[in-house]
Amino acid sequence: MGKTRFGKFETAPLNPDFIPSLHEPTQQILWIGCSDSGFQETTILDLLPDEMMVHRNIGNMIIEGDLSCETTVKYAVTVLGVRHIVVCGHYGCQIVKATSRDGLQGPWQSKLDSLHSTNKDAISQLPETEHDRTFVQLNVLDQLRSLRQFPEVVDAAKSGNLQLHGIVYDTHTGEASRLLEDVEARI
Ligand SMILES: [Zn+2]
Repeated sequence: MGKTRFGKFETAPLNPDFIPSLHEPTQQILWIGCSDSGFQETTILDLLPDEMMVHRNIGNMIIEGDLSCETTVKYAVTVLGVRHIVVCGHYGCQIVKATSRDGLQGPWQSKLDSLHSTNKDAISQLPETEHDRTFVQLNVLDQLRSLRQFPEVVDAAKSGNLQLHGIVYDTHTGEASRLLEDVEARI
């Protein structure tokens, strides 16, 4: 599986040693995953469970005003001093879908609606089977942008102590991909 490109980002295969294990029970990663992934995708990296702090919610989303998520991010960065934040989406997600967002409410629905509205023309150019999969990728990148709204995240990243990563997992193939953004797309 090689690189594929859509808009301002590419996907590339994820190697299990992408984030090297410290082999010690020190939390170095905040993992933000989806509640309905149906799989412990934290195991796709060769890391000890103790090396991760895991936060799950519907759609692996960073919503402004979500106290649980915001507190978790700030705690992980400022108290634990994690070196990595991973936002992991998954293909087949029943929440993050280009085709339907029925049943969601409030900011979760409006954030996904806005993301879809921004990208619907580009998505429509793709084969229909790729619509939901691409939207899952776009949603992960959108959450990375939201993470960069945290002053704590920006400061840690600027000092070289924190990296953000977007990952998408495919339960059918067992493969994971990294999402590689263009620098200008990060703004
Ligand atoms: Zn999901």
